[in-house]
Amino acid sequence: MVFVGDMMLAETVGQLIRRGGDPLKHVRHLFKGADITIGNLETAVGTQGIPADKPFTFLAHPRVIPFIKNNFSAVSLANNHSVDFGLSTFERMLDQFDRQGVRYFGGGKNIRAAHEPVVFDVKGKRIAVLGYDIFMPRSFEALHDQAGVAWGERDHIAQDIARARQHHRADLVITYPHWGWENVKRANPQQQSLAHWMIDSGADAVVGGHPHVTQNIEVYKGKPIFYSLGNFIFNGFTDKEANTGWVLTLHIGATGEMAWDIHQIGLDRQGIPRDLGLLPAAALK
Ligand SMILES: [Zn+2]
Repeated sequence: MVFVGDMMLAETVGQLIRRGGDPLKHVRHLFKGADITIGNLETAVGTQGIPADKPFTFLAHPRVIPFIKNNFSAVSLANNHSVDFGLSTFERMLDQFDRQGVRYFGGGKNIRAAHEPVVFDVKGKRIAVLGYDIFMPRSFEALHDQAGVAWGERDHIAQDIARARQHHRADLVITYPHWGWENVKRANPQQQSLAHWMIDSGADAVVGGHPHVTQNIEVYKGKPIFYSLGNFIFNGFTDKEANTGWVLTLHIGATGEMAWDIHQIGLDRQGIPRDLGLLPAAALK
């Protein structure tokens, strides 16, 4: 499985896609051979709507949908931007994704749908992935009668993991939270405590994002926690840390045992990633 971090497909990257360019042209080899590719879609997709009253709002044109579909097995919507242009734009985006065959998780037409895992059958294993937003605004949260994102409440996470195992018969459950303090290279105590909760509740791995930088890795009870993969496709940053992200490859063995390697990527001025090479093993601890 290949996991990448945050993808913002409006602005310069949206223009590149509009011109027929390929944002993955320098990193496509990292996806080769993967059974599953997952990323965080940090953008509303649509053509209308009123921007939310917050510092940054992103709206990508629906022409980016084939790019998402062709390159990602599923994308997470559990983040602080997918509802940037209002609920009707968000719902229309879900409809377009459904029609065009884009799989997503961590967001939906109501709380139940938002908390459904995306489930993959790969080589005799069922793998469930659950997305959670834990970064404001909480107004993006899906409710019983309102579309939105899955909020990372502890009890709900534990229920979701149990349901993924029982109802969806998942062999492996991976959580993909959107959390942490921006531009801080180490996970904060709340992230760590919640990651431990996820693993204590039955998650096999935790892969996080949002801080715009990479954070530390921890192995807790034998299960890996990658607190933040950083940015993957994102323009508008000037500092080197925010323009450096990770592409994580999780290798899952026959009995569910995991190994991993990480390629460091560098984003150019357009927000497009380039492969900077494998992180040395010592950096993976
Ligand atoms: Zn974010």
